[in-house]
Formats: sequence, C-alpha cells, structure tokens
Amino acid sequence: MSIAKGRVLVTGGAGFIGSHLCERLLGDGYDVLCVDNFYSSTKDNIAHLLSNPRFELIRHDVTFPLYVEVDQIYHLACPASPIHYQRDPVQTTKTAVHGSINMLGLAKRTRAKILLTSTSEVYGDPEVHPQTEDYWGNVNPIGPRACYDEGKRCAETLFFDYRRQHDLQIKVVRLFNTYGPRMHPHDGRVVSNFIVHALEDKPLTLYGHGEQTRSFCYIDDLIEGLIAMMDSPDEITGPINLGNPGEFTIAELADKVISMTGTTAGVEHLPLPQDDPVRRQPDISRAKSELDWEPTVPLSDGLQRTIEYFRNLSR
Ligand code: NAD
Ligand code: UDP
Ligand code: UDP
Repeated sequence: MSIAKGRVLVTGGAGFIGSHLCERLLGDGYDVLCVDNFYSSTKDNIAHLLSNPRFELIRHDVTFPLYVEVDQIYHLACPASPIHYQRDPVQTTKTAVHGSINMLGLAKRTRAKILLTSTSEVYGDPEVHPQTEDYWGNVNPIGPRACYDEGKRCAETLFFDYRRQHDLQIKVVRLFNTYGPRMHPHDGRVVSNFIVHALEDKPLTLYGHGEQTRSFCYIDDLIEGLIAMMDSPDEITGPINLGNPGEFTIAELADKVISMTGTTAGVEHLPLPQDDPVRRQPDISRAKSELDWEPTVPLSDGLQRTIEYFRNLSR
C-alpha cells in the first residue's frame, strides 16, 4: 500500500474545476477531502472517484463552520456562472465572505496552506487592457454581478488580512474564463450554451452584437496552474492571473462552434446583460515568471474535446 502525501481539502470539489482538481490530486498521491453542498453541481462529476479509498466526500455548506484536519486547502466553493450566482445573490455573498472566513479559520487552526480561486471579475468592466494584477478594477458595487464580484474582492481582502494578522500561508489566483468537459450543461456560460445549442441544432444565443471579448483557458492547463501555485515558495502569495491570453470576440467563438459542429441553425441575437464586461484578456507575465506556467492547449483543440464530452452526455 502506498503512503499518502498529505491530506488536501477541496471546497466546491464536485464542481467543474473542483472535480478535475480532486482527480489530479488523487493521481498525485494525496488523500482528498471533497466538500460541496451541490448548489451548482451534482454527484455526477465525482461519481467515478467515490470508490477510491483516498477520496472522501462531505455534503456541507461552507458558510457554516467546518472542523477537519488537513494540510492544504483549495477553496473553490462558490457559484461561478452569472445564472447560478444571480439566482440567490445573498447566498453568493455569504458563500464568498462567510465561507472564506470559515476556511481561513480552519487554515489558522490547522496551519494548512490555503489557496483561493478568485476571478477576473474583480477587474469588473476593465479600463486597463490586458488586465494586470496591479489594476484595481472597475466594479459596479450595486449591480446584478456585484454579489459575485464584490464577494470575491472581499474574499481576497480576508486572505491578505489573515496573512498580515495571523501569518497564514495564502495563495490567491484570479481565474479567467475556463472551459472543458464537466461544465454544467445549463449554467448559461457561453461555451457550454453554444455547444449544447449547436448539438441540438438550435440557434446559438449571441448576446448583443457579439463584439465583446473573452479569453478561454482549457481546464487541463488551468489545473496545472493551480498545482503550480499551491507548490510555489511561501513568499509567492499572488494575486496571480491564470488564464489563456488568446482573446476572441464572442461572435468569433460562435463561428468556431458552428463550423466545428456543423450546425445549420445559425445564431439568434438576444439583449446584452447589464454590466457585461466589454473586454477581457489576462496579462500572464506574473504566472510565467513566478510559476513558470502558461497554457498550451489552443482553443480549437479544447473546443473539440468539450464538444466530444457534450456529445457523449446527450447520448
Ligand atoms: P462550479 O459551479 O462548477 O463549482 C462550484 C462548486 O461550489 C459547485 O460544486 C457548488 O455546488 C459548490 N458550492 C457553491 N456554494 C457552496 C457552499 N456554500 N458550500 C459548499 N459548496 C458550495 O464552478 P467552477 O467553474 O468549477 O468554479 C470553481 C471556482 O473557480 C469558483 O470559486 C469560481 O468563482 C472560480 N472561477 C471559475 C471560473 C470559470 O471560468 N470556471 C472563472 C473564474 C473563477
Ligand atoms: N472555523 C472553522 N473551522 C475551524 C476553525 C474555525 O470553521 O477549524 C471557523 C469559526 O467558526 C470562526 C471562523 O472560522 O467563525 C474564523 O475563525 P477565527 O479563528 O479566525 O476567528 P474567531 O473564532 O476568533 O472568530
Ligand atoms: N454570452 C453569449 N451567449 C450566451 C452566453 C453568454 O453571447 O449564451 C456572452 C456574455 O454576454 C458574455 C460572454 O458571452 O459577454 C461570456 O459569458 P459567460 O457567462 O460565459 O462568462 P462571463 O460573462 O462571466 O465572462
């Protein structure tokens, strides 16, 4: 029997990113404790891990205290797509703020190293392009996205205050749009929406004129970045952007999905949601120099794998 490398807590471990991370950590020889309240996921993403003796699942809402013994904490628990985080905005803020306080309290008691998955949304509708970590952002504090944006901004504040006040080992990464297998098919995010619609031969729902831009990172690249950040020297706290700097308009993304799936249904124009950021592209110089990390999967390869996943799901 192999000896485990240590005990890792992954909050939000049943979600899209969390399930890939749990799988990777098990493969690396860790004991993994997955905590999730299934607010925006189901057991499906982790069903294949349940029989692994080094994997443990706890149904728990991180806004309530949690007493477990661990060496590392990846704190991902939070609804992440606009549809999910706007469904119960007060719960979103509670998850981001109370959830982070509880996980930081847990890290303080156990002296575990703790990593926060923050978001490019902390930059709001950015006036600086591409976004560097020292840009403070342009967030509407009272709009429909604020529960998520301001919640994550406060979570970052808490992480840095726990470091200053209690000398915790913290790691903060700001994730840009990430996609791949195990995205929730109905969470309204652009990649899943376009692919699901295309496979059903329904028109792709293009919000506004589709001139807004995003930069899409494939899940495997992102997981490498999360591990590199956790394993980095203690003085590296972040914030560090993790994303793919390739920038595409949403109309370009629609064209790619149409040509790769062969759908004939075209696009349907719908109104642009309030406060939808106009441009988004990470500057990843810091990730390159401090973590020696950069994405390697081109958008067309990642889309191909994601299309395959959704095709199998609908069979
Ligand atoms: P997801 O919705 O698939 O996963 C989030 C998980 O957290 C879900 O399993 C959900 O049930 C769980 N959760 C929500 N509230 C909880 C609570 N109170 N207690 C316990 N569990 C709770 O989303 P994801 O894309 O995997 O996102 C994971 C993390 O990455 C989030 O923190 C998100 O803010 C961040 N992020 C993701 C992206 C992206 O493009 N996917 C971009 C930026 C940041
Ligand atoms: N907490 C937790 N698990 C632990 C330790 C603490 O969930 O193992 C919670 C605890 O409920 C508290 C929060 O984390 O509300 C913050 O803990 P901290 O020790 O920083 O603050 P205090 O307990 O002094 O308010
Ligand atoms: N979008 C779109 N059609 C959809 C879903 C999203 O045109 O069916 C647009 C949305 O307006 C935004 C971009 O695609 O400009 C990315 O949206 P998503 O919800 O995936 O992520 P976020 O806005 O949080 O970056």
